[in-house]
Amino acid sequence: MTGWVRIVGLGPGAQDMVTAQVQDALAQASDVIGYIPYVARVAPRAGLTLHPSDNRVELDRARHALALAAQGRQVVVVSSGDPGVFAMASAVFEALEAGPESWLALDIEVQPGITAMLAAAARAGAPLGHDFCAINLSDNLKPWSLIEKRLRLAVEADFAMAFYNPRSRSRPEGFVRTLEILQQACNDERPVIFARAVSTPDEDIQVVPLPHATPEMADMRTVVIVGASNTRVIPRALGPIVYTPRSVLS
Ligand code: SAH
Repeated sequence: MTGWVRIVGLGPGAQDMVTAQVQDALAQASDVIGYIPYVARVAPRAGLTLHPSDNRVELDRARHALALAAQGRQVVVVSSGDPGVFAMASAVFEALEAGPESWLALDIEVQPGITAMLAAAARAGAPLGHDFCAINLSDNLKPWSLIEKRLRLAVEADFAMAFYNPRSRSRPEGFVRTLEILQQACNDERPVIFARAVSTPDEDIQVVPLPHATPEMADMRTVVIVGASNTRVIPRALGPIVYTPRSVLS
């Protein structure tokens, strides 16, 4: 058998948000590689070897995937959401670039998934309907000064913003600082969406005006969306609808 690597996104959680393409790749795989909770979402079956690993070993995991494919295995690397958004696809290409030249001949394909901000935006309405940006608030892989710079420039550019990895137990102070910067720089009542565990049984969506946003409203299972200055809220008994109009008139 010829080896291959499929770097796939499992979507935000719900089984019906896994694309048919990704389901096919999983059905054909001999090996599945990824972070423990994501590999746990793949049903075991005869002929399939699962390789769950810890979160901090992305490059080892990527090299392992490429090495297995080079031996003729059919390897699926799983991420949650989309594999190209703060996830494994970049790690695999970093490993490829640094690896043996023979790996360049491997059949490698990235298969997209529904990323957290899109699943969250859809639940809330259409907050990302005009220009927006996505920022990973974890300072594991970049200095906090860069996060803060991007945050300030995003406010200045008046983007709606989606924040991934907003807050963890090991670094609670970053999101405190993020909210302080936003509340000061925006100085308005724009809506903030705290979307936790979207599309899972633990799903919780809260919409609050920016001055009422507090750090405890987010954890590592939350994606936070902050509106642009013209983002609107339609109050409804069924829960508010948040949307950003398509146009900004000069
Ligand atoms: N590749 C993933 C993102 C990985 S980073 C994607 O495209 O979605 C992990 C972060 O994604 C979490 O800290 C959280 O901010 C966000 N996230 C992932 N799944 C989520 C979900 N079901 N609901 C809300 N946020 C989620």
